[in-house]
Amino acid sequence: MDFSYTPEQEAFRATLRGWLEKTSAEVFGHRGENAGSNVGLMDARDDARWAQMLEYHRRLHHAGYVALHWPKEWGGGGASLVDQAIYQDEVLRLGLPLYGANQLAIDRIGPTIILMGTEDQKRRHLEPMLTGEKIWCQGYSEPNAGSDLAGLQTRAVLDGDDFVVNGQKVWTSLAHRADWQVLLVRTDPQAPKHRGISYLLVDMRTPGITIRPLVQITGDAGFNEVFYDNVRVPKENLVGELNQGWQVSIATLMFERVSGGTRHPVERTINELVELAKHVDFQGVPAHRHPYVRQKLATFVSEARCLRLSRYRSLTSQLKGKVPGPESSFGKLFATELNLRVAMFADELLGPYASLDHGSMGAIEGGRWTHRTLAARGLTIAAGSSEIQHNIIGERVLKLPKG
Ligand SMILES: Cc1cc2nc3c(=O)[nH]c(=O)nc-3n(C[C@H](O)[C@H](O)[C@H](O)COP(=O)(O)OP(=O)(O)OC[C@H]3O[C@@H](n4cnc5c(N)ncnc54)[C@H](O)[C@@H]3O)c2cc1C
Repeated sequence: MDFSYTPEQEAFRATLRGWLEKTSAEVFGHRGENAGSNVGLMDARDDARWAQMLEYHRRLHHAGYVALHWPKEWGGGGASLVDQAIYQDEVLRLGLPLYGANQLAIDRIGPTIILMGTEDQKRRHLEPMLTGEKIWCQGYSEPNAGSDLAGLQTRAVLDGDDFVVNGQKVWTSLAHRADWQVLLVRTDPQAPKHRGISYLLVDMRTPGITIRPLVQITGDAGFNEVFYDNVRVPKENLVGELNQGWQVSIATLMFERVSGGTRHPVERTINELVELAKHVDFQGVPAHRHPYVRQKLATFVSEARCLRLSRYRSLTSQLKGKVPGPESSFGKLFATELNLRVAMFADELLGPYASLDHGSMGAIEGGRWTHRTLAARGLTIAAGSSEIQHNIIGERVLKLPKG
């Protein structure tokens, strides 16, 4: 591993950092603290906040930062892996969303279309993703298909020039803000389950689509149930071959690994926890002077450092031309579980105040730690639950027999 940066990379970081600090303060208010790093989790009923997110996205695009990992030919930055890593570090340091308002489009759907889409799909969809004019969501999970995604049952049947889609998706983040969706559908119910799936691009305004927001434990409504009742999707919206949608979705997953789509700003949260410990008492003494609290904080900081080093190791192997492998499961698992433990420890420090969320009189720091603890559990489930990550690590890294 080489920890040094070239003068050009340091200059890129300095310019980017200055731009991010200024822009996030202008758009989201003081130090951009209200931005929130996960667009999919934000309460999409909040029009004012959504308008801020779109404004931030527009500025990110104008500054040329929105898609550093895309090729220049399609409007991206064509940046090196190191510059991409610097971008991710700096954005997450401020707790900002990695890819503006269009996380899924920029981090994985666009790159998938660039690799596997038709020329017409590229010309039609890539530019509006970058500008933020068209927001995208991802319709994968169903009531009976989450971890076992290949068991999905939403059907699409060819009828003339269209697929006719019937079924239901669930937990679709941002569906009520999205203009377009990638949709996994079953096109051959007779084939083995991984071989009868296709990958469609669906206009969310098509007649027959009904979207119902689901309110989460935090009180926010970030995701939705989506129902499809004889929805007609032109057959030119198929990506890849018919019944080869599983392979297309695997390509999407690979892009998510490279683009850091599942990274979490856990180091920032730990820094904020250290600040919290300076301002509350624990067992009658200032929390940051209590040995138990100090040990906990030191452990969290060390764990976050290990996570960072592990990421650098993965980056080094990518720089040597290797494809990112199951080690990204470790990163996702460790970061989201650490994030949950950090939030729960903040609750321990807050004692009875931890039960006061935003809007409650006397809530400390506006109740944001309570909100974080409630949201943190969902992050250990989204994009593959902790148990599934354990399985992947057990089987593909440790080579244990299948459970
Ligand atoms: C915040 C959030 C945002 C999301 N956004 C989207 C989105 O935009 N689009 C989308 O399509 N989906 C989205 N999801 C859905 C997400 O992908 C699924 O929740 C996840 O894949 C788990 O599936 P499930 O909820 O059906 O749980 P299940 O698969 O039913 O799992 C239930 C429990 O059983 C465990 N389990 C299941 N199988 C195994 C196994 N083989 N071994 C051990 N344990 C197992 C799981 O870990 C879990 O604890 C989102 C979820 C969350 C929480």
